[in-house]
Amino acid sequence: MIIVICFSALFACDTQKAEHKETEKQDSLVMAESKQVMEEIPDREPIADTAFVVMKDYANGFFYDMKYATEDNFLKKTVYDCPDCMIRQEVADALIKVNDSLATMGYHIKFFDCYRPLDVQKAMWKIYPDARYVANPNTTGSIHNRGGAVDITLVDHEGKELDMGTGFDHFGEEAHHAYKDLPEQVIINRKLFKSMMEAFGFNAIRTEWWHYNYKGSSSYKISNFKTECD
Ligand SMILES: [Zn+2]
Repeated sequence: MIIVICFSALFACDTQKAEHKETEKQDSLVMAESKQVMEEIPDREPIADTAFVVMKDYANGFFYDMKYATEDNFLKKTVYDCPDCMIRQEVADALIKVNDSLATMGYHIKFFDCYRPLDVQKAMWKIYPDARYVANPNTTGSIHNRGGAVDITLVDHEGKELDMGTGFDHFGEEAHHAYKDLPEQVIINRKLFKSMMEAFGFNAIRTEWWHYNYKGSSSYKISNFKTECD
C-alpha cells in the first residue's frame, strides 16, 4: 500500500517518511522517559500526568483524617463514601517532594481533603453559600473539583498535629494568613508550612491556612466521579 502511494506521489511519500521518523523519535523519547520512571520507581506503572492517583496506594509517609468521610466537618454530614485521598498525579508528585523535605525536619503532611466531586461541592454550597469559604459550583467551582487542591496540615512522626491556631474549616479571620494575633509558635508553624508548600509549586489562599492549590491546576477539567474504595 505504501509502495503504491510512493510511486503515485513521491513528494507526499517523502513527507510521510519525515513524519514517520519524527514519530519514531518521539516514541523513543517517551520510551526513554518511561524507562527512567520505571527504573527509579520499580513498583509504579507510568501513567498520564493528568490522571488521578489514590494517595495511599501511590506513596508512603503521609497521614490521613479525611473529614468529609466522617460527620466531623462543617456540614455535620458524611458526604464521601470512601476516605481515600484522590489527586492528580503531578500534584501527588509535588506533595511527595514536600513531604520528603518535611521528613528531614521530623514532620509529615496530614490530609483533610483532596479531590472533591462537583456534586459534593453543590451539596456544600446549598448548606453554606458563602463564597469566602465555599467555592460556588455554579460559577468557577473549586480547584478541589479539578483534583488540584488539598486541605492539609503538618504532624510529627507520631501523627500529632502542629498547632496552627485554629482547627480545619474554622470559618473566621483567625484562620487567615494575615491574622497575626496568635502565639509565636503558631506563627512559626504556619510560616514553615507555607514556605515549604510554596517552594514546591503550591499557592496559599488568603482565608484558609490549610488550603493549597497546585500551580496551573485551574486548567484541569472539573470532575464529578465518585471515589470508591476497593
Ligand atoms: Zn480546600
